Amino acid sequence: MKKHNFSAGPSILPPEVLLKASQGVVDLDGSGLSVLEISHRSKAFVDIMENARALALELLGLEGKGYKALFLQGGASTQFLMVALNLLEKRAGYLNTGSWSAKAIKEAKIYDDVYEVGSSQSANYNYIPKGFEIPENYDYFHCTSNNTIYGTQMKKFPNSPIPMICDMSSDIFSRVIDFSKFGIIYAGAQKNMGPAGTTLVVVKEDILGKVSRKIPSMMDYKIHIDKGSMFNTPPVFAVYTSMLTLEWLKAQGGVAAIEKENEKKARLMYSEIDLNPLFKGFAAKEDRSQMNATFTLENENLKETFETMLKEAGISAVNGHRSVGGYRASMYNALPIDSVKALVEVMSELESKA
Ligand SMILES: *Cc1c(COP(=O)(O)O)cnc(C)c1O
Repeated sequence: MKKHNFSAGPSILPPEVLLKASQGVVDLDGSGLSVLEISHRSKAFVDIMENARALALELLGLEGKGYKALFLQGGASTQFLMVALNLLEKRAGYLNTGSWSAKAIKEAKIYDDVYEVGSSQSANYNYIPKGFEIPENYDYFHCTSNNTIYGTQMKKFPNSPIPMICDMSSDIFSRVIDFSKFGIIYAGAQKNMGPAGTTLVVVKEDILGKVSRKIPSMMDYKIHIDKGSMFNTPPVFAVYTSMLTLEWLKAQGGVAAIEKENEKKARLMYSEIDLNPLFKGFAAKEDRSQMNATFTLENENLKETFETMLKEAGISAVNGHRSVGGYRASMYNALPIDSVKALVEVMSELESKA
């Protein structure tokens, strides 16, 4: 039986995408060859790469606005240092909203000065700091749009006087944002876009070329742009499957249409968390993530019963991250609302049993 998959990452992909990707592994579009056994310089693969890059810009509404989309390797974690290498000359401002932000700060500090414009670390990151200032003489401002572990999400983005860089790993393509506010957007594919192995990086070209350091080729955005995201052999399966997911998203009506679905799922999930006296939400209400709902079960004695019921209902991967505890329901684009209904049903059944 197919499970209700609430995994935080790598996470659920649309069944159509999984089927098409698996067919491509055996025989790509009737070519008699697998997508895994053709040259990345062949027309078939160059078309896949170009299509994926174009779809990413189209779905973000960034076509013709001076941006380039890249599919790189090394995960979002490599972007933590790549951003600093390419942009950090003197000082950068970071908003510290979770352990991913903290990791980004740690890497940037290797290269130069980092100032935390705001932090919610002392509250175990259960809210998003607001009213912070971004100094205009800094090189860039970095933030994390959705804090996968804590279940908080930035609802508003500042009008930054300097390039705004955002780690959107866990909510890219999930809601309408004015993406043209950002200098760089990056996202590991494995949360909301595809399999692990590639990272989407969307770069506004005119923010590059301003640092004096020498940048190793593999770390240089400019080189990846000039080579059409093919400086070295790209992760072909991850790019192909991400392209299929982006095609799927476009067929659903794009980001605006999926946002409506995501809102419905989140409303259903949070109303159960709020109304059911057995559960308590972790994140501050105004900052709650539409992608990752974090909550705890108040009565530890019910833990075993709850977890057995979840298992019986085919609900998978709602265990919370070790730094928060409790439970986390990740509701990425591909998760059907019926899965949320199934989870909510188990939660209310537990209430009636207790
Ligand atoms: C998962 C995640 C990362 C880490 O991504 P990797 O691809 O494993 O390096 C970074 N930032 C956020 C917000 C994430 O959710």
